[in-house]
Amino acid sequence: MPLKIETFPAGSLETNAYLVIDDAMGAAIVIDAPEGIAAMVGPAIRDGDYRVERIVVTHGHWAHIAGLAALARELAVPVAIHPLVLDRVERPAADLPVAVEPWSPEERLDEGDTVTVGGHTFAVLHLPGHDPGHIVLHDPSEGVVLGGDVLFPGGHGRTDIPGSDQVAMDRSLARLAALPDATVVYPGHGAPATIGAERGWLPTGSGGAER
Ligand SMILES: [Zn+2]
Repeated sequence: MPLKIETFPAGSLETNAYLVIDDAMGAAIVIDAPEGIAAMVGPAIRDGDYRVERIVVTHGHWAHIAGLAALARELAVPVAIHPLVLDRVERPAADLPVAVEPWSPEERLDEGDTVTVGGHTFAVLHLPGHDPGHIVLHDPSEGVVLGGDVLFPGGHGRTDIPGSDQVAMDRSLARLAALPDATVVYPGHGAPATIGAERGWLPTGSGGAER
């Protein structure tokens, strides 16, 4: 049975949190935690009677973690992040646009790891460029990428902010460009993209062996 993906734009930057569901098994994960997300995704989880297995944070920018402590408390499930995001979640900066409550994530994810949702398995790709600790989840059998702020329709995540790196971004985009055209990328803001529709501007090169 295909994955079901519900989108919850939340917070002042309309950051997308995703509830990713294996309906057949009643299992789910939550991707990213913008401010206010617990009050939005909580009822959807209860209505669907889903068993949430974990919260996965794509990267450490405040708009993706501001609601993390409240969400983790409400769902009482582990939080999984890349090691390079840990510090910002455990000790959020004091000068962010919204107050971010600290949290101590239980799990680390990095290149080569997998995340399961019921009977589905996502590969973890480490795709720095927008953020050094940026990860995405890729399910090749479904052709789905939960992509955070790497790829958007018509563009990529910002590379003019602290921690960003255009060279790394180009390498990360080249890895996405190696995925099949029909792959759907669910980004951290706005509507999904497909690799086929974006291929025209995506960098190519030594991206790696995703295919
Ligand atoms: Zn970001």
